[in-house]
Amino acid sequence: METKQIHVLLVEDSASDAELFRKMFSRSGKGGNLIHVERLSQAIDACNQQTFNVVLLDLNLPDSDGLDTLTEFRTAVPNIPIVVLTMMDDEELSLQAMTRGAQDYLVKDQITIQLLVRSLRYAIERGEIHKQLKDSEQTILRALEQEQKLNLLKSSFISIASHEFRTPMTTIRNSVELLQYNLKLTEEKRDTYFDLIKAAISQIIHLIDEVLLLGSTEAGGLKYEPTPMNLVEFCHEIIDALQVNINEQYAVTFTHQGNCKLAEMDEKLLRYIFSNLLSNAIKYSPQGGKIQFDLNCQPDSVTFQIQDQGIGIPIDDQLNLFEAFHRCSNVGKIQGTGLGLAITKRCVDLHQGRIQVSSKVNVGTIFTVVLPSKPGN
Ligand code: ATP
Ligand code: MG
Repeated sequence: METKQIHVLLVEDSASDAELFRKMFSRSGKGGNLIHVERLSQAIDACNQQTFNVVLLDLNLPDSDGLDTLTEFRTAVPNIPIVVLTMMDDEELSLQAMTRGAQDYLVKDQITIQLLVRSLRYAIERGEIHKQLKDSEQTILRALEQEQKLNLLKSSFISIASHEFRTPMTTIRNSVELLQYNLKLTEEKRDTYFDLIKAAISQIIHLIDEVLLLGSTEAGGLKYEPTPMNLVEFCHEIIDALQVNINEQYAVTFTHQGNCKLAEMDEKLLRYIFSNLLSNAIKYSPQGGKIQFDLNCQPDSVTFQIQDQGIGIPIDDQLNLFEAFHRCSNVGKIQGTGLGLAITKRCVDLHQGRIQVSSKVNVGTIFTVVLPSKPGN
């Protein structure tokens, strides 16, 4: 602060007082510069055109008088430190000015070079502290808002998730009771109940994994970390992993266009997105059919398209498709938790991309994901 040059705006209608300030300021040896204007309107204009570190403001000007000058100036220029200039008998006015946002005051007839320099420095420091306080207040408010949002999400999560847990838990309890008390069960029946228990446990584990994953995207735990990657190899890998678990009713085909060998994307997020979309394409095509995965790489963006010939998505459901726990009216007995697409959407958002659906019941569904090649550019 000692060595920093300061840029001062002097708002003073008396030419002789202004001259005195100018002399004192240049004699102070602090460098910097002082711009002088005579009216409040000119002062506001000057602040809109350039940046000042501090303003010396006479309250009695040709176009404004008393504390109104300060109020009007503060409203027009909210963040600049102000030193009010008053007359000897205006002590009361000076104190009022301080409570209305001035950082300091100087009584004109008592000003010395030392007093002027000290007051300017003091006002700038107070202004800086005030700004820091305001900034941290904003940061705290934002954090509180975020916490409130998370709490709301947590409670709706807990109520829906506990409901989703009940079904597999009830299956497990009923099956265990039957195995425990019905001693006449055939070997085959016993195996059926054990299979039911295993399936219910897998369902619970899947649910827990997805809830944790979605929770971590909401809490900012899942970050976008791009690395150079070969998208063709990546898509083949995802399809290969998926094909292990499907039968010959399904024909998965993959095509690619453009240069897809050096994209900058986040592999982990991409894996969530396309594992979810491809496993949906299979799961919601119980009769089997063609599953088409197309990749089109342009210089600025990459388009991924996944098309199936499955049960389709009713038009009413398409509106809430990406909401957590939403399952469509036509799923019948097909198992699911309704979290996959909510997670997919968060991963696409982290990529600054977009996802769209086009679907017809009993004809099929196309999910299109467009991701910028280098988000932020
Ligand atoms: P999971 O969380 O295990 O993935 P889910 O498959 O039910 O469960 P989402 O993947 O979020 O959940 O899908 C939400 C709903 O959207 C599904 O329940 C289903 O009704 C519908 N849906 C998603 N993909 C398709 C598709 N390809 N064809 C038809 N319906 C679909
Ligand atoms: Mg799914």
